[in-house]
Amino acid sequence: MQRNSIISENIKRIREEIATLALHSGRDPDAIKLIAASKTRDATEVREAILAGVDAVGENRVQEMLAKNESGAYQGAPLHFIGSLQSNKVRQIVGVCDLIESVDSPALIELIGKKAVSLGITQDILIEVNIGKEPQKSGILPEQMDEILELISKTDGINMLGLMAIPPIYEENERNCYYFDAMLKLFVDISKEKYDNTRVRFLSMGMSDSYADAIRAGSNMVRIGSAIFGAR
Ligand SMILES: *Cc1c(COP(=O)(O)O)cnc(C)c1O
Repeated sequence: MQRNSIISENIKRIREEIATLALHSGRDPDAIKLIAASKTRDATEVREAILAGVDAVGENRVQEMLAKNESGAYQGAPLHFIGSLQSNKVRQIVGVCDLIESVDSPALIELIGKKAVSLGITQDILIEVNIGKEPQKSGILPEQMDEILELISKTDGINMLGLMAIPPIYEENERNCYYFDAMLKLFVDISKEKYDNTRVRFLSMGMSDSYADAIRAGSNMVRIGSAIFGAR
């Protein structure tokens, strides 16, 4: 019981902080989406977060997500997939997730499109960008962006809504902000281009230890785990 009430208190506090940050940068607080990153959390904890009013829930692992979904954990909130996605799992999540945030290759775009068409739906996605060009991280490189948008424009069943990133985290704020700024620039650049199947709206960046900097830099979707649920 007590643990649960802590979840809603955390969400309330984070919401207030987001509202302050939004107002300071002249934005509408409601325009910034709060996603509860709920990997390893059980259905009860997820329910508590949804009741406390997060905008969506984000999961990392397909199996875990399908099991929790089965138990009704996500009712009343949109479901995002934010983890690394293997091609052989694509068919299990298309149409189940409202937004797949972590689309990081041309092959995934084609597979998701195919599955969506076979279901007669359009799947909303974000493109994950490896903005720090870190070899151990997934995501497309910024210079591949045009090629990716070309591919999306020719792929039925896909609706591309923006970008997601997990930038490198440094001790010094300035170095973090460098990558957030680079993401904002990319986001603004692609917002000006006109490609079919693309309606750029979301810039998903910022986690428990970085969401304030990310929002200041222009993020409008933050994915927060430990600051909501406690340490994993
Ligand atoms: C776990 C996770 C988060 C949240 O991380 P915290 O540091 O716990 O806030 C955000 N995005 C992705 C992709 C994650 O896997």
